[in-house]
Amino acid sequence: MRIALLGPPGSGKGTQATRLAQQLAIPQLSTGDMLRAAVSAGTFVGRKVKAVMERGELVPDELVVAVVVQRLLQPDAKNGFILDGFPRTVAQAQALDDILRAEELNLDCVLELRVDEEVLLGRILNRAREAKINGHAARADDTEEALKVRLQQYRRQAEPLADYYRSKGNLRSIDGLQPIDIVATSLLEAIAA
Ligand code: AMP
Repeated sequence: MRIALLGPPGSGKGTQATRLAQQLAIPQLSTGDMLRAAVSAGTFVGRKVKAVMERGELVPDELVVAVVVQRLLQPDAKNGFILDGFPRTVAQAQALDDILRAEELNLDCVLELRVDEEVLLGRILNRAREAKINGHAARADDTEEALKVRLQQYRRQAEPLADYYRSKGNLRSIDGLQPIDIVATSLLEAIAA
């Protein structure tokens, strides 16, 4: 199964991708996690993207595509994967199609979590609070200021991206405001449909 999970920041993408990855026994490929790991490790890519990520802006397409290509080449991604947070632009979607086509593969489905914007800010600020309570460092971009930029970016890119997949006939939208377990079931149903 080759799946991409789309949704705005705070829509529950990460949580749902983790669950799906476990249930379907495929790796969760989160570009946010990969980029944060690069920042923590102080790699060439990490140094290039640190400030961009902290501001809540999108990392340039060519950088994030290069990171994804490397990850897709790993043996554990051979028989399937769930992409979490990628693609985020039509250019990334086209690059992904090219990468998969070269291997005579394609995405089986693209899942989109739909959530009202008013709910997102509360969710993100809650995530930052919970991280602190649990003794973890909050994400540098889980602030009100960065979230505004992240939502702006999402708004700009989301519809063209959804249209891209809709026109290919493999977009399935799910109401991300339902309780976590119901969203998880709806996603599995959408995959099986
Ligand atoms: P996330 O963990 O998915 O919320 O991503 C955190 C941040 O990583 C984003 O705000 C971007 O700065 C960067 N990022 C993650 N995935 C992408 C992507 N596909 N394209 C561009 N930037 C990305």
